[in-house]
Amino acid sequence: MAKYVYDFTEGNRNLKDLLGGKGANLAEMTNLGLPVPPGFTITTEACRHYLSAGSVPDGLDREVAGHLAALESRMGRKLGQADDPLLVSVRSGAKFSMPGMMETVLNIGLNDESVHGLAKQAGGNDRFAWDSYRRLIQMFGKTVLGIDGDLFEDALDALKGRRPDTGLDAGELQRLVETYKGIVREQTGREFPTDPREQMRLAVMAVFDSWNAPRAILYRRQERIPADLGTAVNIMAMVFGNYGDDSGTGVAFTRDPGSGRQGIYGDYLQNAQGEDVVAGIRNTIPLEDLERIDPPSYDQLVSIMETLENHYRDLCDIEFTIERGTLWMLQTRVGKRTAAAAFRIATQLVDQGLITMDEAVTRVTGDQLAQLMFPRFDHGAEKKKIARGMNASPGAAVGKVVFSSERAVELAGRGEDVILVRRETNPDDLAGMIAARGILTSRGGKTSHAAVVARGMGKTCVCGAEELEVLTAERRFSAPGGVVVSEGDVISIDGTTGEVFLGEVPVVDSAVVEYFEGAEPDDELVKAVDRVMRHADGARRLGVRANADTPEDAARARRFGAQGIGLCRTEHMFLGERRRLVEELVLATTDEERQVALDALEPLQKADFVGIFQAMNGHPVTIRLIDPPLHEFLPDLVDLSVKAATHEATGKDRRLLAAVKRLHEQNPMLGLRGVRLGLVIPGLFAMQVRAIAQAAAEVPGARPEIMIPLVAAVQELESVREEAVQILAEEGVAALIGTMIEVPRAALTAAQIAEAAEFFSFGTNDLTQMVWGFSRDDVESAFFSRYLDLGIFGVSPFETLDREGVGRLIEIAVAEGRSARPDLHLGICGEHGGDPDSVHFCHEAGLDYVSCSPFRIPVARLEAGRAALSRTDSDTR
Ligand code: PEP
Ligand code: MG
Repeated sequence: MAKYVYDFTEGNRNLKDLLGGKGANLAEMTNLGLPVPPGFTITTEACRHYLSAGSVPDGLDREVAGHLAALESRMGRKLGQADDPLLVSVRSGAKFSMPGMMETVLNIGLNDESVHGLAKQAGGNDRFAWDSYRRLIQMFGKTVLGIDGDLFEDALDALKGRRPDTGLDAGELQRLVETYKGIVREQTGREFPTDPREQMRLAVMAVFDSWNAPRAILYRRQERIPADLGTAVNIMAMVFGNYGDDSGTGVAFTRDPGSGRQGIYGDYLQNAQGEDVVAGIRNTIPLEDLERIDPPSYDQLVSIMETLENHYRDLCDIEFTIERGTLWMLQTRVGKRTAAAAFRIATQLVDQGLITMDEAVTRVTGDQLAQLMFPRFDHGAEKKKIARGMNASPGAAVGKVVFSSERAVELAGRGEDVILVRRETNPDDLAGMIAARGILTSRGGKTSHAAVVARGMGKTCVCGAEELEVLTAERRFSAPGGVVVSEGDVISIDGTTGEVFLGEVPVVDSAVVEYFEGAEPDDELVKAVDRVMRHADGARRLGVRANADTPEDAARARRFGAQGIGLCRTEHMFLGERRRLVEELVLATTDEERQVALDALEPLQKADFVGIFQAMNGHPVTIRLIDPPLHEFLPDLVDLSVKAATHEATGKDRRLLAAVKRLHEQNPMLGLRGVRLGLVIPGLFAMQVRAIAQAAAEVPGARPEIMIPLVAAVQELESVREEAVQILAEEGVAALIGTMIEVPRAALTAAQIAEAAEFFSFGTNDLTQMVWGFSRDDVESAFFSRYLDLGIFGVSPFETLDREGVGRLIEIAVAEGRSARPDLHLGICGEHGGDPDSVHFCHEAGLDYVSCSPFRIPVARLEAGRAALSRTDSDTR
């Protein structure tokens, strides 16, 4: 028989899945002998049953009744008993804390009779009893009956005028209760329920329902909390902070969650109940002042906080109530903290001997490290938000708006900060993207060109801000609310949140990046980061490489700790002037024409590779042979058609048009790309392999690895490999030859493919595109938000590797590949290589390395260390 209810004495902190965070920690504190009011927890399992079946599970009512009876006998009072009532609170509590997202109802058990009993219990304190009763109707009305909370607030405001709520006397509060009951009657057509058990039952269901309230759904999505966990419900004997000035309620942290500094931080409110502190209805006082008001309670609180920190070996936050000089603990949990505090606290706890360095590494996350690496907007500054897009590449950027790459370069050349605003970017925008402080697009998802390139450069980017209408030709964009931003106007974009602001928001720099760039760690935070990184590096099994295609990026990647290049995208080397050569090559109709283009490209390529080999100084460099989606390289069909139709059109224009028409593709991503292009255009891959070999011969210690893209069948790979082996032999250079696994068929035939490949690198951008059938350029902004709402996935599969689908294919390919070739070297070079959760997957799947953009390298190093040391989910979420 399932057990759905646990007394606080039965649980412990390890039962968060079942009892939620609050329930598990209340049980833990109870077991520690701390003063916790007695009570019990209804499990998340009961909630899940209720949410899926639409009714509470069989036996739950009976179990609750049994636990309530036990609570009543312990307290010597019955719930809602007229002359001497037991009152309870009903509070939500999910596995991961969702502050303020779900519901709480206090003072359950009060009605027109028991309110007098409560007054008697309180030694004739009528005011307190009526205040508790009005609070019940207010919270119950809002939470359980769904009445607009403002109606109650307005009635309260009308009565108290300019006085604080504590200024109301018993008679006034009694009248307020009547007014509140009237609101309930009017709004619901029913009387406020006076049966205490009915109140409790309805409150429990309201807490269950609150799991699916829109704000809870939104919060879960943002925090990546799974949608199917459900919440537990905690029912606890009430203790009262609203008895009078000898009572009160507060929240406290065992150290500063903002900076990590040791000490006691918190707020206290005299003569108040829990929700008043959070609601901010009166000004709280600093917790230190409690020392003056009630020294014994303060000393006890300080000692309990010490006990909790030592017990949890981490920063804890707590909620407490003092009832007529007696302290009660209502909640504790390992507290949320800022990224900086997380690093500081982790190392402080090591120094205090409370945790090991292994644990310290697991106490911080890659996301927190990433936050520390980007310049950020000053939190306190005033901002005017005009839109929100996808947070494609974190950081804070401020600058004048420009609408073309040329203009970005021009203004940046004059020392101006610019934000490049485009509908979407393409490889021709690269110069402008480099010149700009940040990039803003109105279309495209997190693997769109703008996003990928910006992340690669560590440049702030907000993409897919669909509310914006970008009118490039008119050099302006419009935002909702009639806002029009023209070239030269200043905007600020936050790549960490996706927000776009009008005007300049002040920015603060990151000392952590300076440290990764080679500066000595001097301040306390950077020293903490340094210690954690060193330990993570010592613990990790995964290698970390970089996706880089310029010597500058390669050099930065080395400084950031890359152990090689895992993906050098050679098509990125054919932009600007060189683009014309590729165009000529692709459009050539004779061997001679083709050879002219190849001969021009080869020395350029060789010089590119020399630069990169030098920057990598003896570390492996995986060079991927050219993989351009053709539409990015050929002239635009529409533009060309227009031009060819005019009188000025030359014979060449018309020939070009014919060729572009011939090569035009409906689905370029599934068209003549990667190895297919290499097989169709004779000499293209050979030219690249020769350039690699000759460059390697020139740079002592160079370690080239040649990677063939978009392979689906071993036959494709074999023919390229054969030619490459021959060229390498001719040039007298050794290089590994391997392939990307980015087409599902390659993963499924990995055993065959491994016969012709010394390494695999999983191209999870294309693999995700092809496994889901999602166009990587379009779908994120088109309909992913709906998919997220529907819970089809909790996070975009382009961002975090889809373990069940894409991950499954990777596992198959790893197993098959290694069975055919036991020393097969395995890596990943899709965008997922720098995503924390995906790095853990790669560790578990047994890959040898992850490769990611240079700015993600520290994150990948840390997460690889964490993966080796622990599980991903942590209390600090
Ligand atoms: C991939 O598909 O994951 C990959 C790394 O290649 P690209 O993003 O260049 O297609
Ligand atoms: Mg690819």
